[in-house]
Formats: sequence, C-alpha cells, structure tokens
Amino acid sequence: MHLLLQGGPTAADAPGPRTGGLPLVPAGFAWPHCRECDSPLLFIAHLPLDHGTAAVFLCDFDPGMCDTWLADGGANHAYLFPPGTPLAPAAAPDDPNVPTLLPTTTALHPADRPDDRPEVGRVGGAPDWIQDPEIPACPGCAAPMEFAAQLENDDTGINFGDDGLGYLFTCRPCVRAAFLWQC
Ligand SMILES: [Zn+2]
Ligand SMILES: [Zn+2]
Repeated sequence: MHLLLQGGPTAADAPGPRTGGLPLVPAGFAWPHCRECDSPLLFIAHLPLDHGTAAVFLCDFDPGMCDTWLADGGANHAYLFPPGTPLAPAAAPDDPNVPTLLPTTTALHPADRPDDRPEVGRVGGAPDWIQDPEIPACPGCAAPMEFAAQLENDDTGINFGDDGLGYLFTCRPCVRAAFLWQC
C-alpha cells in the first residue's frame, strides 16, 4: 500500500500517476461514451499499478444527472491495460456540450508515509468506505473485484460529491477494472 500525495502540475502525458491530462491508451482505443446520455466521458485519472495501467473516466454532462457513482451504470468507465502494452496519449474528442479533459494535470506523488502535501488517495490497502461497502462483481467473471486505488475530491475539477471518495477495483485474471464513488 502507498499513499498518493498531491504532487503539483505535471505534463499532460506524464507516465506517473496523475489526475487530468491525456489517457495513455493502446492502439485502436475508442474514447468511451456514457451509456445514459451518450456524451463522451471526462478523463479523470491515469494510475499505473503493479498489474497494469488504469484509466478512469466519468460522465460530466449536466453533473448529477447520470449515475456516475455506480460501478455498473455505464456513466463511468475504468480500463486496465495489461503490463507491457505499448501506450500512447489518446486524442480527446472535442464535444461542444461536455468537457472530456480536466482543466489541469496534477501529479499524484506516491509516498510510504504522509508529509506536508495533501493526501489525495492511495494505491492498495483497504478502501475507506463512506457508505456501506460496495465491492463490484467483475464484469468478466462475476467474482468480487480486488480494491486497487482510492481517489479523493481535489481542486482539479473531479466531482465525487461533497468530500467524496472514488474507488478503483480490478480483476487480475480478467484484466478488467471498475470504478465507483461515494459521498
Ligand atoms: Zn452521462
Ligand atoms: Zn474477472
């Protein structure tokens, strides 16, 4: 388990953990759309893990309208790209009605212990559930998924409600990811 501390501005294609910027994706990647409103999703986080690279997207159309907090509602999407997959920055779709990129790119500095930088999440360990635990079932094999990372609201435009937390889960055998949030 390690903490993620706010690391300040970084490049849009930085390889380290970050919120915002561009997703790093494999060849042939198609930008995800919301299953509820069909808008292109907002890319919020790039998280390299020991078992792949995660990319997290949420619907930001008329915030609050689509069920972005649900792991299986289709208003968010989390990817897990297998280790060793060649990844390159994706071109974000330009939609006049909805943002697809955050206004800033912020490094998430991995650290073993807290320091004076704000703590904005963690990788591994156990989730700090705000509501009842909601461990998603893997969309591939239906087994309970493994907690991979947690992200806090910060001042970068991510919206998990008031003082919310976002939770990333993965299934290693299926190389799948799921995301939900609570507040
Ligand atoms: Zn939507
Ligand atoms: Zn699975």
